Amino acid sequence: MAIRVAVIGAGPGGYVAAIRAAQLGAEVTVVERDNVGGTCLNWGCIPSKVMIATAEMLEKCHRALEFGLKLEGKVTPDMQRLMARKAKVIQDQSKGILDLFSHHKIRYLRGEGAVDKSGLAVVRPEHGEAVEIPWDKLILAPGTQPFAFPAFPFDGEQILSSNDALCLQEVPASIMVLGGGVIGCEFAFLLSALGSRVTVVEALDRPLPLPSIDEACSRVIEREMKKRKIKFLLRRTAERVERNGGKLRVTLGPSPLLPDLMAGEPLEVEVDKLLVSIGRRPNTGGMGLDKLGVNLDARGWIEVDERMETNVHDVYAIGDVLGPSKIMLAHVASVEGRVAAENAVGSGAVMDYRVVPGAIFTMPEVANVGLSEAQAGERGFIIRADTVLFRTMGKPQVMGEIAGEAKIVSDAETGRILGVHLVGPHATDLIAEGALAVKLGATVKDLAETIHAHPTLPEVMMEVSYKALGRSLCG
Ligand code: FAD
Repeated sequence: MAIRVAVIGAGPGGYVAAIRAAQLGAEVTVVERDNVGGTCLNWGCIPSKVMIATAEMLEKCHRALEFGLKLEGKVTPDMQRLMARKAKVIQDQSKGILDLFSHHKIRYLRGEGAVDKSGLAVVRPEHGEAVEIPWDKLILAPGTQPFAFPAFPFDGEQILSSNDALCLQEVPASIMVLGGGVIGCEFAFLLSALGSRVTVVEALDRPLPLPSIDEACSRVIEREMKKRKIKFLLRRTAERVERNGGKLRVTLGPSPLLPDLMAGEPLEVEVDKLLVSIGRRPNTGGMGLDKLGVNLDARGWIEVDERMETNVHDVYAIGDVLGPSKIMLAHVASVEGRVAAENAVGSGAVMDYRVVPGAIFTMPEVANVGLSEAQAGERGFIIRADTVLFRTMGKPQVMGEIAGEAKIVSDAETGRILGVHLVGPHATDLIAEGALAVKLGATVKDLAETIHAHPTLPEVMMEVSYKALGRSLCG
């Protein structure tokens, strides 16, 4: 008899796990309380990038004359049409997932899933009777939801979560983005390009303050924000929010995370809207995990081993619900889903987090893979780091997108590429070459001696590699 696998949550973790388990011959049931595709398709990667595509096109229109084009009249965002396009992209993608479910004979149930006891899950649909799902293996993939500031919870109108910001019906005249991490910075550039006056408030001392992100990339992003008149307030946090007519008055104080660094006097900023993007919390409530005895860490994230199995035999967990100590990205959730499915139905798959490309859709984009200079140093490598500016290359000049730089961190002795850090045009596409290089243990010589087509953006990777060999062509 086929192994019965139940998957709770149909985001990029859950639906990939379900398909992989079905490919391996399991009898699979997927439970989802919302639309298939999860945060990624409905509230994250896809809708945000649809909006960014519009913002980028608008910016290009504003530069039309520079490119030898006369645009008659004013080009302005039409949020209703933008939202309609976003809905269409989501709908097409979700149909694709549902088609895959039926192709792989996966049973799909819409409703709230919970564990009843070992070997049994229950789905409560919005209408109708609860359905019991017996399972031999269970894969938990419930994801996360936006974290609110308890002192000023989301109201969907003025105090927004990222979900709310993806449904804006008009461009706010002014907005404060609380949190200068990945989501906050993407929204800051996007909203500024659409026409908002944007202020970003970050508790730490740089935009994108993640250990994996090279400080030089943060510096370029800060500089590009300045060029666009996005105000960036570091080492501060919001202490109070008062409603004042149709406006919000936000009082900012020093950051509790950097108590030694003074941020000056409390500051009051008046804005139309506040977008809170300070993190996410796990969707584990009400799932009955306590009935199985699944271990959570002190902050409520599910704990797993390298096979994605929890402390409870035959119960696996994947994706964002594992928290930031694993990497909270859609493509990571999908690989974890594959690993969990392969172990649930067979054995021997292990999750490897060493080569995970990160892609940030700011303007310009930021992308990274492997170790940063600091991380490589901490691990005892004797390294060299080489940088080339995009402005020195042909294709960025052709495109009129010259801001940014490419850096390769390599082992000084062997030339092995340890990390690649990009900030610049199409960085999120270019990082694929870096990921392959790190994964295959390639050296800067391998990359330099790989012929790259001209004029293209990837030439920058070849050029940095030549620089690391001391044979730079562009100086
Ligand atoms: P989710 O996608 O959150 O899916 C979990 C699913 O489980 C949800 O559909 C939920 O409804 C369902 N669920 C929860 N509890 C239950 C229950 N009890 N019963 C039934 N169903 C349940 N990542 C990238 O890699 N690239 C990006 O560009 C990117 N951009 C982002 C932009 C934004 C604004 C946000 C918020 C996130 C972004 N992410 C991005 C992160 C990405 O969305 C997540 O890493 C990814 O969605 C995690 O996948 P998951 O399957 O673990 O969880």
